Amino acid sequence: MNSTIYYCPECAKTIKQPLNILDLNLTGSLDGYQLNKFYKHTLDIPMKGYTSSFVDHSYPAYRNYIVETVTSGSLEVVSKGSKIEYNFVFIESKKVGELYLDGNFLSDEDSIKVVLPNNPNKIHAYSTGSLGLRKANCKSCGKKIY
Ligand SMILES: [Zn+2]
Repeated sequence: MNSTIYYCPECAKTIKQPLNILDLNLTGSLDGYQLNKFYKHTLDIPMKGYTSSFVDHSYPAYRNYIVETVTSGSLEVVSKGSKIEYNFVFIESKKVGELYLDGNFLSDEDSIKVVLPNNPNKIHAYSTGSLGLRKANCKSCGKKIY
């Protein structure tokens, strides 16, 4: 069973330090993994299943979203059995992306999620919705994370 908890931006800094990403080429993993993720989440190519696509397709915008989210965002901790995933999330409060299902537009998205933030060869980002994030409280201090 999965469970998800959140830490506000202040408490997040005491739980998980992100990579120093300023020196990273965020599409640079040699196996092409990050470039594939960048294309998947910035191009309007119809794909099967759910896909989020940033409305700004440029690398500088994508990079800025990642920097902003890991430095100012909240920490999301997802427990999947014995496996724990750490993500950073940030509500931009304006449209940053669109959600598609099987290539059909579903909704605008106003937030950013950065996954695998401690792996320099896998860290990447996609847009997400803020509904759940706006309801979440910090596991440590109890305040709303946004
Ligand atoms: Zn807190």
